[in-house]
This record gives sequence, C-alpha cells and structure tokens, in this order.
Amino acid sequence: MLNFRPEDGRKRKDRRLPDAWAKTKNKKGNGRDEQSLLFLVQGHIFARDGGSTMIQDIAPARLDNAFRDAAAEASDTLVSFENGKILAAYDPEAERLRFPCVGECGDAGEAVYLFSVSGRRFFLAEGEVSLRKRDGDMPRPAAAESQPPLSAVVPAASDSQLPRPAEGPAASESRPPRAAEASSSPAPFTRFSLQELRALKLRENTEIFAAYTAYHLWNWYRTSRFCGACGSPTAYDHTERAKVCPACGNRIYPRINPAVIVGVTRGDSLLITRYREGFRHNALVAGFAEIGETLEETVQREVMEEVGLKVRNIRYYKSQPWGIASDLLAGFFCEVDGDDTIRMDPHELKYAEWVPRKEIVLQPSDYSLTNEMMKLFRDGGWPSGEERGTAPDRRDSDQLCSAV
Ligand SMILES: [Zn+2]
Repeated sequence: MLNFRPEDGRKRKDRRLPDAWAKTKNKKGNGRDEQSLLFLVQGHIFARDGGSTMIQDIAPARLDNAFRDAAAEASDTLVSFENGKILAAYDPEAERLRFPCVGECGDAGEAVYLFSVSGRRFFLAEGEVSLRKRDGDMPRPAAAESQPPLSAVVPAASDSQLPRPAEGPAASESRPPRAAEASSSPAPFTRFSLQELRALKLRENTEIFAAYTAYHLWNWYRTSRFCGACGSPTAYDHTERAKVCPACGNRIYPRINPAVIVGVTRGDSLLITRYREGFRHNALVAGFAEIGETLEETVQREVMEEVGLKVRNIRYYKSQPWGIASDLLAGFFCEVDGDDTIRMDPHELKYAEWVPRKEIVLQPSDYSLTNEMMKLFRDGGWPSGEERGTAPDRRDSDQLCSAV
C-alpha cells in the first residue's frame, strides 16, 4: 500500500475536486440530460454518452471538500459511525436516505467538520451518539419532514471493487439490519454498513456518496490519533485537514490509496473476473499501486498476476473516489498482447473469462467505475483494437486517451 501524501510539513492548498464533477449530469433525476462526450484515442475521435451514474455523480449537488475550522450547529448534518456502520434512516417509498442533524442527537462529544454538499454541512461525531427521545422541537432538514418511519429490509450486498479492501470491515456478504416494526414507536434510525447502503434503492447519489466520503475520513481520523513517528497523541490542525504531533511536529494527512481498474480487451471481448471472496458480481482486473511503480506499471503487473496475460496499448479512462477502502481508483483499458490464454490466480479470483461484448452482465448498481467500464464496452462505447485499426506496436502503450 502506498501513501502518496507528503508528510514533510508541506501544505497542499486546494484539494477541491475537479469541475468535471459539476458538469456530469445526474441521470437518475427527472428531466435528465444525457451528456455527450468526445474522446480522443490515438488521433481518432469517438463520441459516447455520459455512461452510467457513478457514486460520485451527484450533480446538480456538489461536494465542497475544502477544510473549515467550523463548529457544529443544531441544523448541521451529523454522521456517526460505530464499528464501521453509519447511523441513517431509509425510506423505501421515497427511496431516500437521511442522516440525523446535530440537534436530533444527544451529546456526541466533539463533532469534526467534514465537508459540505450544496451548502449542507456534514460533521463527524467523535463520541457515541444517542438520539433524543423527544424530538418534536428538534430542527430537521426540510427534505426529511415527510419521511415515514424506517421500515426497510434491505438486501444483502458487499462493497468492494477490489479483491482486498485496504482497511475497515471486510467486504463480505452480510445480513442487513432489520428496522423495528412500524406499528409501535418505530426506530427512525438504525446503523448500516456501507455494503448495505449500496444495496438500497436510492433516487439520487448524494447521501450515499456523502456516506462513503465520510467513512473515508472517519477511518482516517480514527487511525491517526497517535503519531507514527514518536507515538504521542496527535492534535487537530486548525488551518487544514491534518493531524499534527505536538511533540515532534509530524503532520498526518488523509490517506488515499491509488488503485487501478483494468478493462483488458481481445477484439470484441472483455476480460471479466469475479473475486474469490467478497463482492460476488462481475468485475474487472483490479489492484493497488505498489511502491515504485507508475499506474501503467500497476496495470501490467496486476493483469499478469491475476490472469497471466501481457497487455499493450494502455489507455486511461476515468477515476473514482471509493471511500470504503480509502481508494482513488484509476480506470484503464488495454489489449491483450500475444498469447490470450488465461492463467487465473485462484487465490484472488474464482472466475476469469473472455466475454463477448453483447454477453457482458453488469453489476446490480451503477455506482462503480468497474460497472461503468463494463457497460461502456458492452454498449460499444469503447472501441476494440480492430475497430480502431491499432497496429501491433508496443509504443502504443505510452499513449493516453484524453477525454474532453
Ligand atoms: Zn510525533
């Protein structure tokens, strides 16, 4: 696992996410608008639509991840994790997820500012949270006014695009929580794992993306309480999102793990995998960057390790934040180079096959970059080598696609 973060005291000024986020259309809303993009591959221009609606596609909402040294107020949204499970209420009829606001909760200890979504501020409860029993005069978000009590039974799911989550709970198949019966004093909130949230039917991605991003930060805050250099308790920095060691000055920034998702193509077929454990649906070759390698080298190594293939013509597609494993995923397409005989690593995978474009079965939801890449190839949005007229030249692998 590689931590890209500078830990030498340099400050990174602006970690705002790219404007492309705001430009991505949310295809789940009414009146949605397909986004048409042009992208360039080795001098050829192709058009495609906006693909699926990945978890970070929350437009017209927008994540503002700039640090603020802010104190929580009663109307702010409070996220609370216990054993990796977040406190939330799900309304299956409205297909809406809701987190409590600060005023609905008892003493949560110190609440840490996380981020804002379209002006709504999210804070992380550091201590245990108890919901107030009488909440008649508690401030509530406007969107929550008409929500009926929680009575959801959600299907099982697991939540990883990668065979080995970096940290946190294992991506295992687990039973979801059952809410109290709706008849007598139903519990409006319960705790969900992120895997369980992923299986919920939701009208928009805003809340689940906030949950994934909050989980990423929660996991970092809970694992950065002590200095890794001298062992002293760390303190909050008040100028940027960092923990600082009062004894030795060590600064600790949120950890983000770079990883790749790889669509390996052979003409009109895509290499589909399934992990040996955890996520049970179709996936692509995936893995974490290791020390001393470029992302392109990660692609080559992971494909060789998992399925025993050489690849060429590696082209970048898109990236995706995936908070459950503290990941930043980079998606690449490439072509098998030479012998296309799959030699699967049975320790990581239970399935690896060349699947013709029209026979690709997608994941149950649109959230993952993996799914978008499979969908793109299935629907002909990513050309095979033959369609692009690619010459069998290894120099191709140095070239990148650029999306505009
Ligand atoms: Zn220290």
